[in-house]
Amino acid sequence: MKFSELAQYFDKLDETSSRLALIDILSDLFKSVKTGEQLEKICYLVQGRVAPFFEPIEFGMADKMIAQALAATYGEEKEAVLKQYGKLGDISLVAYEFAEKHKHGSELTVDQVFVALNEIASTSGAGSVEKKTTFLKDELLEKLDALSVKYVVRILLGNVRLGIGDPTILDALALAILNDRTKRKVLEGAYNRTSALGLVAKTLKDHGIKDVEDLKVRVGFPIRSELCERLPNPEKVMEKMGEVDAQYKYDGFRVQIHKNGNDIRMFSRNLEDMSNMFPELIEGARTQIKSKTAILDTEALAYQPESEEFLPFQETTKRRRKHNIDEVAKTLPLKAFVFDILYADGKSLIDEPQTKRMEILKKVVENGDVLLPSPGKVLKEAKDLQLMLDDAISKGLEGVVVKKVDSPYVAGGRNFNWVKLKRHSSGELHDTIDCVILGYVFGKGKRTAFGAGALLVGIYDEKNDEFVTVSRIGTGLTDEEWRSIKEKAKGLESDHKPARVNSLIVPSVWVKPHIVIEVLADEITRSPMHCAGASLSKEGVKEAGYALRFPRLVSFRDRDKRPEDASTVDELIKMYKQQSVK
Ligand code: ATP
Repeated sequence: MKFSELAQYFDKLDETSSRLALIDILSDLFKSVKTGEQLEKICYLVQGRVAPFFEPIEFGMADKMIAQALAATYGEEKEAVLKQYGKLGDISLVAYEFAEKHKHGSELTVDQVFVALNEIASTSGAGSVEKKTTFLKDELLEKLDALSVKYVVRILLGNVRLGIGDPTILDALALAILNDRTKRKVLEGAYNRTSALGLVAKTLKDHGIKDVEDLKVRVGFPIRSELCERLPNPEKVMEKMGEVDAQYKYDGFRVQIHKNGNDIRMFSRNLEDMSNMFPELIEGARTQIKSKTAILDTEALAYQPESEEFLPFQETTKRRRKHNIDEVAKTLPLKAFVFDILYADGKSLIDEPQTKRMEILKKVVENGDVLLPSPGKVLKEAKDLQLMLDDAISKGLEGVVVKKVDSPYVAGGRNFNWVKLKRHSSGELHDTIDCVILGYVFGKGKRTAFGAGALLVGIYDEKNDEFVTVSRIGTGLTDEEWRSIKEKAKGLESDHKPARVNSLIVPSVWVKPHIVIEVLADEITRSPMHCAGASLSKEGVKEAGYALRFPRLVSFRDRDKRPEDASTVDELIKMYKQQSVK
């Protein structure tokens, strides 16, 4: 397939406001692809990548480098390019304009562009800026038409943002190859175990659905995390779950540790590779994991074993950084509380029951300074669970996580196998809700200067893979944060409603779902203005949605959560019901 054909699909995807149309366009694209290998590449390219999300591949290109390459390709002065950039505010549009004017041919295939992009990503070290810009000019820009140039530039800047989530790609694959969208579930299972969309697509195309079902957990491929449901109190837990393995709920960040011989890799909850960030955990994993291969589910945080002191989350997050790593590793060393084992000695353990996995965990992970095996306590009585909860709170922890003793590890699942119990679960809303910014309204008065004056935010509708509005937010942000909204929204703004957004409110500016924020509200209420949980028909609202009362921003979570990791409609409705029980 020529890259120019793919660029036309990109353009159609960019223009649509409907998720169903996204699926249809993608499915047409997938149908036209001949081989599994090519399908794999295309799955990554439509997400602006050349590898799965968890591979830490970066192009290392900046607007200025692109401007330099554009000037050299099209025989323009760099100043002329920059002037146009100042006017349009988006270098990919400048690239398109110049390429249109100078009309180069369009020779390259998808494979050739894919190889060239990889070449740019792997160029590093001294003189790499010069090498990359020259390579971009010679091997890509000079051989591509205007539309292709626009999207190649966007890919290089990490700016494709067609708003295509993984479930949408899986839907389109199921439709294109199996002619049946309901089969997405099977594909999703394999995806949850491997996190590699391209691998799922390639296997499906080359070998069919049976082989997709057989795709197993593998070291080096992060497993999508299992998550917790909520219940209000220990009595309800025992009623619903029977015997449970009760573990402390540590408030740090989730790290999945993969060991393959001497090679250790670590992934965050949103599947980002964090291997370089925590040298002390790497060392700990090398010395304390006794099996040759293993995958551990852990929570990493700063902890003083002598005083049993857990440092607050804000302290721990200081470690999520890319600079001076060795220095901060010394001043704020992390421990990893190991609460699950998903793989050992070449075998997947996710289908083993909780108690069996905990036994294996105790054998495989040796006690030591860095990895702290935390298999929990098996409890039957509500009063014992209450005691443990009180104990956790008194230690400064968030609460406990209880796990059904006979449950397997459900990759990517959120169900009543795991339940979190916090001190205030039964009170008014104390748990925060993770929302996605979907738009903003221009500011008035002092906020005129910031650009944004109120945010339109939504949550994730898992069933439809859409973002549905739940609130407007005008408080909780400092002046600096209001300004940063404009900055963060750069490149995400859209003049039409993004395809996977469902909203009755039209903001001044739409923002493609990307920025996750943590929000605290007083209450969840029903509202005909919001789409979360609403039932809508052509005539209007059939059943009101849910909304947040007195919402305020607690923190930005875009560094550790993807939009699909936001709170879901199901969760919100359950929280609403628990609140009304009270
Ligand atoms: P947030 O990150 O805002 O707390 P979340 O949805 O990721 O939201 P919760 O559902 O509140 O998290 O709780 C699950 C999280 O708790 C896990 O993702 C993990 O990071 C953390 N955690 C701490 N201790 C444990 C434990 N013993 N077992 C499982 N998860 C734990």
